[in-house]
Amino acid sequence: MAQIIYLNGQYVSKEDAKISVYDHGFLYGDGIFEGIRIYNGNIFKSKEHLDRLYDSAKSIMLDIPLKQDEMQQVLIETIRRNELRDGYIRLVVSRGPGDLGLDPRRSPKANVIIIVEQLSIYPEEAYLRGLKTVSVSTRRNVPDALNPKIKSLNYLNNILVKIQANLAGVGEAIMLNSQGYVAEGSSDNIFIVKRGVVYTPPCYVGALEGITRAAIIEICGELGYTLKEEPFTLHDVYVADEVFFTGTAAEVIAVREVDARIIGEGKAGPITTHLLKEFRKLVEIDGVKVYE
Ligand code: PMP
Repeated sequence: MAQIIYLNGQYVSKEDAKISVYDHGFLYGDGIFEGIRIYNGNIFKSKEHLDRLYDSAKSIMLDIPLKQDEMQQVLIETIRRNELRDGYIRLVVSRGPGDLGLDPRRSPKANVIIIVEQLSIYPEEAYLRGLKTVSVSTRRNVPDALNPKIKSLNYLNNILVKIQANLAGVGEAIMLNSQGYVAEGSSDNIFIVKRGVVYTPPCYVGALEGITRAAIIEICGELGYTLKEEPFTLHDVYVADEVFFTGTAAEVIAVREVDARIIGEGKAGPITTHLLKEFRKLVEIDGVKVYE
């Protein structure tokens, strides 16, 4: 079936999904986005993703031309038209076409785009074996320059990390903040486990408030694991019993090696495995139903 893309109120083919080269999302990374999963016909954490989108929009003073409940309906309709039960949704709101100057007042009409696709990121065996990863020299944007809580289209900071990850031959890398505390991956949040306690950096260290991160924090509570949101350093990562990344696409993926230090037994540890199992149970049942 041919893919259908939502573009400013129209449902168009991939070939017809075109926007202006004057769009400030293209010219300046001026805009925001969300990556959302659909599992078993349910949009996982739909409200949380839309809340984050509308918060990002408010923060950068971008008017989304749809109310949040209308956006929810459009999401559902786009998925239905693509007849997808499992996949990935990319929702983009850019500042829209303007002139060559920076001034967002010259871009009065935002572009709203929804792309729905099949997803394959890591093979299933990667979840058992764990990823090899490295720390990189690129530091996280400081919150008073571009707050990492804003899921903006300006992903150059993250892309620089990805380039370093590529050069090191790994899929995901660890980024520190300007003080040397562990912030997050290029597009995933990070957790470590030490003596049965689960740690993740607080978002003020310089991390996106990940929806998967929040789900894992909640699952930890339900399963009775102690969860601490505390800043930590690379040393703490090296000596952790377990390390894992979380993200919409990656879900809960173990790390087996960081900067040539083997983590725990060098494969997915028991708490990571338990959390992934519970997370996968949750995604099957939780979320907004697309098909009645
Ligand atoms: N950090 C960054 C920089 C991200 O882009 C993402 C999204 N892939 C995450 C963390 C994870 O967030 P979520 O669980 O909401 O996908």
